[in-house]
Amino acid sequence: MIIARTAVELRAALDSKAGSVGFVPTMGALHVGHRTLIEKARVENDVVVVSIFVNPTQFLAGEDLSKYPRREEADFKICELSGVNVLFYPEIDSMYGTDEISIKAPDVRGYILEGASRPGHFDGVLTVVMKLLNLVRASRAYFGKKDAQQLSLITQMVKNFFMDVEIIAVDTVRESDGLALSSRNVYLTQEDRVEALKLSASLKRATHLVMQGVRETNVICRVMMDILQPLKVEYVAIVNRRFEAIPEVIIGDTIVLVAARVGSTRLIDNVWM
Ligand code: AMP
Repeated sequence: MIIARTAVELRAALDSKAGSVGFVPTMGALHVGHRTLIEKARVENDVVVVSIFVNPTQFLAGEDLSKYPRREEADFKICELSGVNVLFYPEIDSMYGTDEISIKAPDVRGYILEGASRPGHFDGVLTVVMKLLNLVRASRAYFGKKDAQQLSLITQMVKNFFMDVEIIAVDTVRESDGLALSSRNVYLTQEDRVEALKLSASLKRATHLVMQGVRETNVICRVMMDILQPLKVEYVAIVNRRFEAIPEVIIGDTIVLVAARVGSTRLIDNVWM
């Protein structure tokens, strides 16, 4: 595995490899969710590139940028054992200068739900993903459905800017009890960990209701809210794949999303139906 710390090193590493490139951008503290993306990239491409970069521009003031979990040694080992060919691990200075041009998330889709709770977050996400995709020049880039709105906006950016990369969506990987894997789960205390299950439990209930024939989204949202008590819920929403609110579930074109604070940790989860 080649470890590249700068754009120049990354280019040299990629120039030494032939074939299709699968790219998995991450912020590190790698878990089985990340590994699933890497394995899919491994199967579908000749060369696998992973980036680990805790992108400062997607954190709002007061968020967990400085305490975001960093696990350099363990992450390198996971990448090596997962068959990653090139690990891009840049310093902030290699990624950002001063007075830069940045990508702005769309006015509506970029500022609802996650974008309403974290205004400006998606500008930072899209800007760094644009930089990373331009650097890696991958055939395919892999993103988790866990970050559904991010995935949707990245897919839109690639389309809007005529970028030559295929965006591959990967199903959410969960613990056996239903909790969606997240680097932020390490913040959860033992009691938080139990409370956190309410997110996946509310989504499971939503799925059951739909299976029983319930379609009204406000009915489903109300049931979910009851299950989520007493968590501080930021939103429960049911949207179509374009992130437009819908009055009724349309099978094959619906995402049910939840964001809530468990103790001091903010968690998100969703289910696609
Ligand atoms: P992050 O390091 O949190 O920025 O995540 C890097 C990539 O891994 C993103 O595309 C995430 O959507 C994806 N990811 C994070 N958690 C999971 C999970 N539990 N299952 C599948 N993909 C995930």
